Amino acid sequence: MRKTIIAGNWKMNLSSAAAIELATAIRNGIPGSISPQTEVLLCAPALFLESLAASVAGNSKISIASQNAAAWKEGAYTGEISAFQLASSGIKTTLLGHSERRSLFGETDEVLKTKVDLALEAGIRPVFCCGEPKEVREAGTHEDLVGSQIQNALFHLNAENFSKLVIAYEPVWAIGTGLTASAQQAQDMHAFIRNLIADKYGKELADGISILYGGSMKASNASELLSMPDVDGGLIGGASLVADEFLKIVECA
Ligand code: PEP
Repeated sequence: MRKTIIAGNWKMNLSSAAAIELATAIRNGIPGSISPQTEVLLCAPALFLESLAASVAGNSKISIASQNAAAWKEGAYTGEISAFQLASSGIKTTLLGHSERRSLFGETDEVLKTKVDLALEAGIRPVFCCGEPKEVREAGTHEDLVGSQIQNALFHLNAENFSKLVIAYEPVWAIGTGLTASAQQAQDMHAFIRNLIADKYGKELADGISILYGGSMKASNASELLSMPDVDGGLIGGASLVADEFLKIVECA
């Protein structure tokens, strides 16, 4: 049975002290009744990863993840942090290919292919983000684009490695805009992604992959989105910065 993952993406927000306060409040607020299949992730600024991991230690339902990893293993890449360095700090998961990384930092499918390979080699689980901008949705070619993002960056993997991935579908027009994909739009895209994976790797493997929805998910819309059969969790930006709001989403899982 695949996992439900509720992941907060804090982006470049919070001071060190505020980050520890928020992580501690979330850690302590996770309901004891949470399903064993549910996992909470906090994707935090790199600088705080180790101290945050210490703050949430002792609660196996929650862990700290990176928002990015370098496209190189090691060397003269000033300011970058490699997947191997993340692993050496005890980090087990990283976002890769968030739309802000694609649009602001020029990450292409080709770069992401390398990043995915390096993360897996380091023993880090990638949460691979994909999604279409507004004009692509309006043109009706969103499945073509998301399909190509997945095929180009991930379909070189063997089945064993592919089964370690988490996918996050995040329509760019819904990220940080207050606009949310309808539950049906999310379900349709998630089912499309799962079918694509099934065609390449088989139904059993596809059924085990968690596909998260991201894009203005909040307490008021989480339960409808999460009730969709192919929506296996959320990647949450703004609403993950307020403990009570984020915990309400966790309760919907
Ligand atoms: C995100 O950053 O991945 C995201 C979905 O942000 P928001 O929830 O604020 O739309």
